[in-house]
Amino acid sequence: MASTRPPFAIGRSGYRIAYYAHEINHCPGCGKSHWLMGRMTAECAYCSTALPLNEGAMVGNGLFRGKTGKIPAPLAA
Ligand SMILES: [Zn+2]
Repeated sequence: MASTRPPFAIGRSGYRIAYYAHEINHCPGCGKSHWLMGRMTAECAYCSTALPLNEGAMVGNGLFRGKTGKIPAPLAA
């Protein structure tokens, strides 16, 4: 029988470290605060510790959103 419980609940997962945009984020590995930003993670420029982005990478080119139900038009390129 299938479980009705969601596989992952953020509120019940305990302490989760993440990168918060528009705030000063200190690296948990070395304590410095210079980051290389990606779409899904931020990586410390000194020790390469990677943290997930708190915003979840819902912005940027090439990302599709399923809430509207519309299929995006094909790219002209
Ligand atoms: Zn570091």
